[in-house]
Amino acid sequence: MLLNDAPQSGAMLKRSLAIALLVLSAHASAQTTALPFVLNQVGPGVYAAIDGPEHKTGSNAGFVVGDDSVLVVDALFTAEAAQALVGEIRRITPKPIRYVVNTHYHADHTGGDGVLRDAGAIIIAHRNVRGWVRVNNINLFGDRITPEIKARIEALPLPDVVTDKDLVVWLGSRKVVVKTVLGHTGGDFVVSVPDAKVVFTGDMLWRKVAPNLIDGSVKEWLATDAEFAGMNDTTFVPGHGDVANASDVKDFRAYLTDLRRLVTEGRKAKLSGDALAQSVAPKMKSLHPDWTISDRSIAAEVRYMNDELAGTKKRPVPVAD
Ligand SMILES: [Zn+2]
Repeated sequence: MLLNDAPQSGAMLKRSLAIALLVLSAHASAQTTALPFVLNQVGPGVYAAIDGPEHKTGSNAGFVVGDDSVLVVDALFTAEAAQALVGEIRRITPKPIRYVVNTHYHADHTGGDGVLRDAGAIIIAHRNVRGWVRVNNINLFGDRITPEIKARIEALPLPDVVTDKDLVVWLGSRKVVVKTVLGHTGGDFVVSVPDAKVVFTGDMLWRKVAPNLIDGSVKEWLATDAEFAGMNDTTFVPGHGDVANASDVKDFRAYLTDLRRLVTEGRKAKLSGDALAQSVAPKMKSLHPDWTISDRSIAAEVRYMNDELAGTKKRPVPVAD
């Protein structure tokens, strides 16, 4: 359009071209710096990377900047997303990235571990993650697995430091508490930064997004989250969904409680399989209208809830070292 304009002098044309090139290069750099997540500062030196509207990162993550080093919570799903996370850390601080804590083994939280390790981090996880990360993630994908994803899962790094106890990590004088919790997989951590009143919950909390119950026990999950529901002055970074507070924890517990109640009622009415799911799904959607609940996710939730109530729920089994 510029070149097709009315006749211009040589100098004017040169100037117009220079402006056009500037605009083009500014546009290109804006594109290359577009992040797959939204970075939120949730406390002094504490950041949450929240999966963007296009769901490119698979889950949320975050990081804590201490006196002498950085601790990352979760590694996102893809190497590209993890590289973007490392890029944001590098933009904020030159301090070494010393640790990445995996909240659990699911690949949407561990897929970028290799990038974090290459950036210098030691991988800290629940002891069960070593036995599950390369094996059980294949089940997690079910019929959505591709040869490319299978190969990536089988090459995921194994954690370096593991425990089934609580752990304190000191970043100089800054305390980070890693706590083992029950409910979601049988190998979960929540990570808190007491001086900032921030808790990274991993998938113990989902904000307005239907949770994945594949490995879970709703009974244990509700018990664990009861403690978070009373922490009114705390900021929660959930595994999925936006930055949350105690009322979001209550909302999530109400979601699980409603699911359990409706599946129990359906079982009493002798419903099973698709009929049970078709009875529960519209009720859950109308009770939680501001939640993202896909037909696929609610059908799976009903199936897993039914298995738990029937005493037939399959959960990952700890593997010997
Ligand atoms: Zn997740």
